Amino acid sequence: MKIDGGCYCGRIRYEAEVDPASVVICHCADCQTFSGSPFRTVVLTTPDTFRLLAGTPKVFVKTAESGNRRQQTFCGECATPIYSAPADGDTRVVVLRVGSIRQRAELVPQDQYWFRSAQPWLASLPTISKQEKQPVFNPDRTVRHE
Ligand SMILES: [Zn+2]
Ligand SMILES: [Zn+2]
Repeated sequence: MKIDGGCYCGRIRYEAEVDPASVVICHCADCQTFSGSPFRTVVLTTPDTFRLLAGTPKVFVKTAESGNRRQQTFCGECATPIYSAPADGDTRVVVLRVGSIRQRAELVPQDQYWFRSAQPWLASLPTISKQEKQPVFNPDRTVRHE
């Protein structure tokens, strides 16, 4: 599947081919921290199909518990995470952050990694109250009870 995407501020734009069957959620502690979210959703690119159309991401090299060194790339202006790739060697396949892909609604996760560190409240997500948009922020009323 052909996809394209970019960062929030628009300085970085890319295109690639991805296999929708390779969309996974990662619940590892590092993904929670890097994404600022309870989990991260990623998809693998088909080898040699990732192409930057605009901009150059900043690179942070992370060393995993296993000793694996991976590039974590992001926009240096707006901080949108873009992809990860091996820091050493073969970078024909990159792991895109699904939130930066324009066609993300079509990319449905097929598996969940590191589920042992998943946030325990995720199972109750369907029962948490929902608003179409967000309420107006009122600093004098930081906790809302309906
Ligand atoms: Zn940006
Ligand atoms: Zn992870």
